[in-house]
Amino acid sequence: MKVNEKLADLKLRPHHIIDIITGYGNNVQYQPHPFGHARHLVAPKLLSDLNLKVKLVLGADDICTGCRNLLPNGKCSDVLAQLTPSPSKQAYNDVLDSRLFDHFTLAPDCTLSTGEYLEIVNKHTPGLERICTHPKEDPEERLTGLINGLKKLGIRRCI
Ligand code: SF4
Repeated sequence: MKVNEKLADLKLRPHHIIDIITGYGNNVQYQPHPFGHARHLVAPKLLSDLNLKVKLVLGADDICTGCRNLLPNGKCSDVLAQLTPSPSKQAYNDVLDSRLFDHFTLAPDCTLSTGEYLEIVNKHTPGLERICTHPKEDPEERLTGLINGLKKLGIRRCI
């Protein structure tokens, strides 16, 4: 059976996976968040097994489960508070993930193993930090964290 025909273990936005790998490389320990979302549960699951099947989505994902900002229609009501005026997080996320789907030549709702997706991420690193660094985040720090995370997982073997 081909990977695309299997049920997914996780449903995640492409940039949320990159965030988790970058945090892993920077030794971030995720705790339950005041928003109530599930990042602290999803991150260890994602990192535990590179063979897990992940459906890459352009919308609310497993991290959004339980979040107080998740509206009944599946949209995010939050904003990017670090910017003034603060743009919609839904729009920001959708633009960022659309850019990543194009950059990786992947289609929304495709399913890959975590390892397969991270091999693609690795092939675009360095350089990926230029399109996937959040506002007020340092691109060099982002790149270092991503590279360290990929190395810790055995995806990346050299600088
Ligand atoms: S994207 Fe929005 S709904 Fe999802 S976890 Fe973040 S703040 Fe919550």
